[in-house]
Amino acid sequence: LRENNGRHQIHPMTHPLIIENRPPRIIVKGEGSYVTDIDGKTYVDGVGGLWNVNVGHNRPEVKAAITAQMEEISYYSSFAGTVTPPSIELSAKIMEMTADEDMARVLFSANGSDAVETALKLSRQYWKLEGEPERTGFISLKQGYHGIQFGGTSVNGSTLYRSAYGPLLPGCYQVDSPWTYRNPYSEDPEELAEAVITQIDRLIQHQGAHTIAAFIAEPVQGAGGIIVPPASFWPRLRQVLDKYGILLISDEVVTGFGRTGAMFGARGWGVKPDIMCFAKGITAGYIPLGATVINERVFAAWQKGIDPTGFIMHGYTATGHALGCAAANATLKIVEDEDLPGNAGRMGQRLMEGLKDIPNWSSLVGEVRGKGLMVGLDLVADKDTREPIDPGKGQGEMVATFARDEGVIVRPAGPVIIISPPLTLSEKETDKIVDALIKALRRYEE
Ligand code: PMP
Repeated sequence: LRENNGRHQIHPMTHPLIIENRPPRIIVKGEGSYVTDIDGKTYVDGVGGLWNVNVGHNRPEVKAAITAQMEEISYYSSFAGTVTPPSIELSAKIMEMTADEDMARVLFSANGSDAVETALKLSRQYWKLEGEPERTGFISLKQGYHGIQFGGTSVNGSTLYRSAYGPLLPGCYQVDSPWTYRNPYSEDPEELAEAVITQIDRLIQHQGAHTIAAFIAEPVQGAGGIIVPPASFWPRLRQVLDKYGILLISDEVVTGFGRTGAMFGARGWGVKPDIMCFAKGITAGYIPLGATVINERVFAAWQKGIDPTGFIMHGYTATGHALGCAAANATLKIVEDEDLPGNAGRMGQRLMEGLKDIPNWSSLVGEVRGKGLMVGLDLVADKDTREPIDPGKGQGEMVATFARDEGVIVRPAGPVIIISPPLTLSEKETDKIVDALIKALRRYEE
């Protein structure tokens, strides 16, 4: 294993030549909030896999559900004509859980990127069915992350993910994220939200509402640096989109099923989207699964009649995968039975409380921010100008390495250290993450 590690596999977000000299850590075992590496060292998993192992590692209930399904049948297609039982059960469960959002139908896929791609394509098809075929454009937020396929890449808000892979979809526009720490308008959250809403309104007027299909955003931006918008932003966004009839897609790949302290990120902001994208936490990472949910309004376009243009010519071999759906059924039961959104809210507060003093003494940390168990430490080169560190200098990696020496895994993503542990995190484990980060950052100061 050690000999071949880093030599043949391409690891995303890493230069293929660097990985040969610094091979990735081999993780061999997981239990609850802990993982163990090949050298036998155990860590608190402060990243929750990749913010997806929401129910913790190695849960007997999830393993039993997958195994029981494997005993029956592992796969049969969910294309027209056949289906397997776990996806029927899961579709009913998701409809029950999203009833407050007036959701009507779900299309399953294999990943978050698929869920986003499905949302973008179904929103275009919606407008074609509504007789407005020119509505093909998309608006998104800078710093947003929406997966890796060409549609998702086109609406991604960071040039880093886009520049090597163009040309991308035409008619995609990114507006400023309402980000209080680094924004061009105002330190006042409500004023800032209003300024971004005005920017969106002007963009729509400039391009013409008849050219815009949908707006896509994460309720809390994740990979872009844990950016929590002002409370008024999502309700105002919904209002401005309604003015022009534009669909709202909530990318809940990270925020879905409890991470922000609410069951869904958009619900936390009191907003009903038209389309929701799920993945990651839906199966807690045990088996990959994506889900795109459309509301009554969007589904109504398909209820007008049976016409060849209304067929959904978009499906994955893995659509409704029996093992993925079995894993999701078991996972969502744990999410509800153990009130994981509630625990994420409580432990998130405890984490923020423990970390909040760091910017007062650390030369590196400019801000600690987050919602629920989505927390980020913003690393700055200059505390006054708030200029972010140059990620190429490796300061984030250094802090993460020091934290690992203290027995906690965190994730440096560009100039932000991301903390996104399992939502089952205990008080003791929360305190251990706080303690390790404080020690790591003090060591950095030395
Ligand atoms: N949307 C968001 C908000 C994400 O964070 C991610 C993955 N980090 C994706 C979409 C893509 O999901 P996947 O990696 O499962 O394709």
